[in-house]
Amino acid sequence: LFLDRIRLLDPSLRAFLTVDDKGAMQRAQELEEKKFGEADFPPLYGIPLAIKDNICIQGLPTTCGSRILSNYHSPFNATAVEKIIKAGGIFLGKTNMDEFAMGSSTENSGFGPTRNPFDPKRVPGGSSGGSAASVAALEAPLALGSDTGGSVRQPAAFCGIVGLRPTYGRISRYGLISFASSLDQIGTLTRNVQDSLALFSVISGQDNRDSTCAPYPPFSSSDCLHEDEIKKMKVGVAKEYFTTGVDPVITQRIQEILNILTKEGFEVVEVSLPHTDYALEAYYIVAPAEACSNLARYDGVAYGYRCNQPLNLQDLYTRTRTTGFGKEVLRRIILGTYCLSSGYYDEFYLKGMQVRTLVKKDFEESFEKCDILLAPVTPSLPFKFGEKSHDPYQMYLADVFTIPSAMAGIPALSLNCGYHQHLPIGLQILGAPFQEGKILSFASFLE
Ligand code: GLN
Repeated sequence: LFLDRIRLLDPSLRAFLTVDDKGAMQRAQELEEKKFGEADFPPLYGIPLAIKDNICIQGLPTTCGSRILSNYHSPFNATAVEKIIKAGGIFLGKTNMDEFAMGSSTENSGFGPTRNPFDPKRVPGGSSGGSAASVAALEAPLALGSDTGGSVRQPAAFCGIVGLRPTYGRISRYGLISFASSLDQIGTLTRNVQDSLALFSVISGQDNRDSTCAPYPPFSSSDCLHEDEIKKMKVGVAKEYFTTGVDPVITQRIQEILNILTKEGFEVVEVSLPHTDYALEAYYIVAPAEACSNLARYDGVAYGYRCNQPLNLQDLYTRTRTTGFGKEVLRRIILGTYCLSSGYYDEFYLKGMQVRTLVKKDFEESFEKCDILLAPVTPSLPFKFGEKSHDPYQMYLADVFTIPSAMAGIPALSLNCGYHQHLPIGLQILGAPFQEGKILSFASFLE
């Protein structure tokens, strides 16, 4: 059924870069032949998934949306993928994304953009735009994405679905191709909160193959709250997230929700996150700095694309990288290299990390006063193709409300909370580290 939908819709939607119909059918058959008892019945038995193309599935291409990896096939499975296989899931294929997850619209993909299922003239968000669009268009019931500064939550908001970015370290990054290692985190894209919970439970938990993975057992539904506990939660609102730059349609909708919550007896408290304004700037120092180091390995020697007839080693590096990478990736490499260059380290990278500490502290202090925070996911509704792609700063601003929490490493979820002229509006629910239980419980209460 899902493969049929992909065949029908994807030629115009372009959510997938690779569709593994043969592999999926074969896997379905294998599963059917296996017998499971009630106790060991796999939680994702027979459920198809779409996987962002920066997460490795053995034998399938992993391009990261980049020409430089266009002929790269992964020889191993990511830990999250391995866990999904054990849980009985079936992979439909790999989804489109901004090149190396740098972007907010999928317009930076080396293989052409994905469209928004709600309006083909608009972007699906990014960088996990393919995953979000595939779930919204019912090409897949569940998808994996990655969120470095908002890449799961922002496309989820633009496609009217649920996107969860867990606490940094909650899901192993083994087999997720690195963009900015101290920020990267795998996340889930699903049609409802229950599905997020189910998928998150399968893929979370400690992993010896990722030393930054937190030493905790997988998430379980017993980490969720009962309804009477949910009603006692304190809901925080930070004024810094309701500035003049936000589309009034979004602020209005969130205000309506806050009014309903107050009427329902929830305590709504105002908190302050004074360093919010600096988080975006600091992110664009820290993330490119880490990216330029992570992307140094694509030199035409070990992986993927190599330029034609190099004259010497220098020529091989230079031409492979200048022709293999797209414009935004090159911009970030130059930015990052500059920030890390000798004499500038203290001025940029160190300052960026200091701001990061302040942003983290803001959240810590806020979560002493409330259980969760409510905020917009994005300052605007899904925008049109070309509207922001000529101006990198305008594009960067699309993540202004998702970047601070990513810098702090805290969990956050994007939930659809209504529509304006057929375009979805997202609501962001943020929590303290490892408090995904509170976020998911509250989200499912709202849903
Ligand atoms: N849009 C942001 C960037 O381009 C965030 C991307 C992401 O989370 N992967 O860096």
